[in-house]
Amino acid sequence: MPRQLTHLIAGQPVPGTSGRALDVTDSATGATVARVPLASRAETEAAIAAAVTAFPTWAGTPPVKRARVFFRYLQLLEDHKDELASLIVSEHGKVYTDALGSIQRGLEVVEFVCGAPNLIRGSFTENVGTGIDAYAVRQPLGVCAGITPFNFPAMVPMWMFPVAIACGNTFVLKPSEKAPSTAARLAELLHEAGLPEGVLQVVHGDREAVDTLLTHPDVAAVSFVGSTPVAEHVYATAAAHGKRVQALGGAKNHLVVMPDADLDQAVDGLMGAAYGSAGERCMAISVAVAVGPVADALVARLAERVRALQIGPGTDPGNDMGPLITAEHRDRVVGYVGLGVEEGAELVVDGRGLVVPGYERGYFLGGCLFDHVSPQMRIYREEIFGPVLCVVRVPDFESALAVVNGHEYANGAAVFTRDGDCARHFTSRVSAGMVGVNVPIPVPMAFHSFGGSKRSLFGDTHVHGPEGVHFYTRLKTVTARWPTGIRAGADFGMPIMK
Ligand code: NAD
Repeated sequence: MPRQLTHLIAGQPVPGTSGRALDVTDSATGATVARVPLASRAETEAAIAAAVTAFPTWAGTPPVKRARVFFRYLQLLEDHKDELASLIVSEHGKVYTDALGSIQRGLEVVEFVCGAPNLIRGSFTENVGTGIDAYAVRQPLGVCAGITPFNFPAMVPMWMFPVAIACGNTFVLKPSEKAPSTAARLAELLHEAGLPEGVLQVVHGDREAVDTLLTHPDVAAVSFVGSTPVAEHVYATAAAHGKRVQALGGAKNHLVVMPDADLDQAVDGLMGAAYGSAGERCMAISVAVAVGPVADALVARLAERVRALQIGPGTDPGNDMGPLITAEHRDRVVGYVGLGVEEGAELVVDGRGLVVPGYERGYFLGGCLFDHVSPQMRIYREEIFGPVLCVVRVPDFESALAVVNGHEYANGAAVFTRDGDCARHFTSRVSAGMVGVNVPIPVPMAFHSFGGSKRSLFGDTHVHGPEGVHFYTRLKTVTARWPTGIRAGADFGMPIMK
């Protein structure tokens, strides 16, 4: 029987009443594994109202007590890692070890917020003027909302709600309707850890729920991760409604291979980064920039490895990659492969037509490799979000940097080289939010912050780490004196230190 999902409002499971719902499928088999309700405006408003009610008490709870909930949560996450990873595999389809790794990266954000009392500690200056002290505190914003994509059903929600809640906010999470079960389970476990009712709600849905969150006067801040067109809509709409917004969008990440690079390492790095999770990662490498004479050897070695990829259900530990999220998305990626051929790129490995025996109804696509891709082609300019790697050939380092910096997306970028001078130039001059040197997927740890630039991020702050704490808190600076004796009288000048 498919799982019947409910919303979670004020700590209670609430069945959907909008009359709208979707089937969630196992992308390896095409079978329906869950049914997800799509919230109406009224249902989303009920979730916001519960968060409003819970806010004063939670904001007034001492930070150490809030942090203790997350210490207990950590243990529960450890205990339920396998269950959570299996839920991800059953809906998203990525291979089990990959799913487990994504839980670990989310769990590390919970480890980070266990130190929240220290993270939100303010500052104090004695005697800013004679007998006057000043102190600055960071206070929670109120109700925060999170809207998340399908490709990291646990990790991306965990970039958001633990940080917001540990800082004293209440939260409404709207997970992806394509892979919703893991976020729902994460929320249940946080309540098991002792989170009071109303501090975290989960509302399932689509644009109707999202637009309610973006426009509702009681929502103070919105965190979004997803595709660039939606990120732009979220940023513009929420900002126009006076909210703080961070909206992380799509990507086209480049890996530059210099002629002096260790080719074995570069090929290993490219294989994992381009084809891991079937390319459905915002930090996936989708462009290899081959500099000078390295190109022929690089393409030859990649082709051999792409042809040898083990592709099948995520439950089989022998597989390198699983299916794509939906049949529509697989068809869209297949469309891009056809487009690349029409545009004149050389399709060195064609993964179309792959059939996985026993999984004929799954949304599989074999690894695809294009050579001689030029920056004018749509397969280069647009995010494909599938197992398709494009090789762009350039004569030298400056041309490689120009290619990377010419792209409108700027999430991650990497260089493989053994030359420190080249690496230093690259890290200093490349326009990407996250940069790797001989590291293909430079995803920052939880105590740093994650985010891109240009059309990969709308808003000022990255997520989690210090920037996350900054995003979910507002600074207040207090200047205080306790005068005794005679009154000084009114002073009509600008206050200056006396
Ligand atoms: P998506 O933009 O389709 O959906 C993301 C969220 O927005 C979902 O919760 C969805 O319900 C909602 N949504 C979709 N269309 C909407 C609309 N018209 N109005 C309001 N809300 C809407 O993204 P996806 O397909 O779930 O995820 C893949 C995308 O996410 C890729 O582009 C990928 O690069 C990006 N991504 C980016 C990062 C990052 O850190 N920059 C991380 C993960 C994924």
